[in-house]
Amino acid sequence: MKAAIIGSGIAGLATAIRLAKRGMAVDLFEANAYCGGKLTVIQRDGFTWDAGPSLFTMPHFVDELLSMAGLNGETFTYRKMDEACRYFWEDGTTVTAHADGDAFAKEMEAKLNVKASTVRAALYKAKELHEATSPLFLEQSLHKATNFLNGNALKAMTMLPRFDLHRTMHNVNKARFRSPKAVQLFDRFATYNGSDPYRAPGVLNVIPHLEHNVGTFLPRGGMHSITKALEKAAIQLGVRLHLNAPVERIVVENGKATGVWVNGKHFEADIVVSNMDVVPTYRKLLRDQKAPEEILKQERSSSALIFYWGVKGQSTQLGLHNILFSDDYAREFNTLFNQKDIAEDPTVYVNITSKYERGHAPDGHENWFVMINAPANEGQDWNAIIDRTRTNVINKLSGMLGRDLRSDIVCEELLDPRSIESKTSSHMGSLYGASSNHWRSAFLRHPNFKQEIKGLYFCGGSAHPGGGIPLCLLSARIVDQLIVN
Ligand code: FAD
Repeated sequence: MKAAIIGSGIAGLATAIRLAKRGMAVDLFEANAYCGGKLTVIQRDGFTWDAGPSLFTMPHFVDELLSMAGLNGETFTYRKMDEACRYFWEDGTTVTAHADGDAFAKEMEAKLNVKASTVRAALYKAKELHEATSPLFLEQSLHKATNFLNGNALKAMTMLPRFDLHRTMHNVNKARFRSPKAVQLFDRFATYNGSDPYRAPGVLNVIPHLEHNVGTFLPRGGMHSITKALEKAAIQLGVRLHLNAPVERIVVENGKATGVWVNGKHFEADIVVSNMDVVPTYRKLLRDQKAPEEILKQERSSSALIFYWGVKGQSTQLGLHNILFSDDYAREFNTLFNQKDIAEDPTVYVNITSKYERGHAPDGHENWFVMINAPANEGQDWNAIIDRTRTNVINKLSGMLGRDLRSDIVCEELLDPRSIESKTSSHMGSLYGASSNHWRSAFLRHPNFKQEIKGLYFCGGSAHPGGGIPLCLLSARIVDQLIVN
């Protein structure tokens, strides 16, 4: 069997590894000159920044793939972090979110005046939700009726009323915690898949389970090591990697995918897997096929504006992951999803890997990855938005951290919704495919196969089960299961 995979994002690489391990002849076509899609790296003036993802959860999904290629822990190692995140508010309140749930609960009690037992209960509920939903909604295709006729499905159905599908995340958190800061902290997990806590269903309160019950991790060498390790595993298993190879068309004959056109050449295949965002897959590669318009028109998840700053000096207040909250979270999300703009006072995320990877910044400096949630690209005046936001963010960080950041920034690189879109073909530059702002969103994500076209499969953040590294890796596992069954 021959397989052609379109795109070497994390899900494309993972699918290539799985199919090659099954003995298929796999050709992986990547439009860029490098692998990894969003999971890549930026280097400049002695600084190294992970360009995209910075938070690593569920590392066993990566281990599983590397072991398929016989690669042991020397190729890819990571450490479990004691601290998940540091949170800062304008009034000077800070919370260190210890990875250990119990320590985190005690910190919340001490700093935010919420009962530790309430925090523990929220984390327990997240664990319960994860156990009930993951096997059914994340680890298998949602679009095969037979997947709903088993014990897991029955168990999940009995828990349906506890899923909080018809209450928003925010309303669930507001009912739990009296402290608005605690509500904001828990609401923030909606942004893990680019959603709006004031609209997303309460079931997304499952997300803190990953950080506080399972843990957060940091790969040695930074997040880009994940891409490098998976690329190595794919090559070791015999995957033929074609860089600078944008697929122009998926060939469909008599209701079956039979290959792809790349750089004016035809490659035959028995199986075609698209790791390209589903919207451009239909609009560009499958122009003569009927597109599933209801799926393609789903609201996109948020995008991001990222300043990669080389910063003079060492900050002791900041850790690896830091959130400096906006004073008006509701207004921030309204601006993002309704006005399609970045708020004047946005929440700012700062990631500094040089705290652990000394090679990521020259001596006496740090590599700040400063990310602000941004709306998906609809042709806004991004240059004006970026200029305004840069000033707002520098003022906010300088004020909250008590330093003049402007004079400490020695170099800058930038990524915005336009460049995310052009570098990875993600529709409108969204980070996680469609948003999860509605309880039906999970069901309106593109299936991992196409009923009408045999041999055509979909993996990656815009297909089921969604965006983020763990879910993208699960999409590859589901595609593999669908192909062999
Ligand atoms: P993508 O990374 O989208 O890559 C698709 C690949 O396909 C690209 O390489 C592209 O060039 C290629 N391609 C497209 N069209 C073609 C074609 N026609 N022919 C050939 N090749 C093609 N996730 C987390 O888990 N944790 C985080 O902390 C996190 N933070 C993020 C921060 C940022 C700034 C960004 C951008 C993303 C973040 N994410 C995070 C999300 C995560 O990066 C994505 O969900 C995931 O990497 C998407 O992987 P993918 O497999 O869908 O492919």
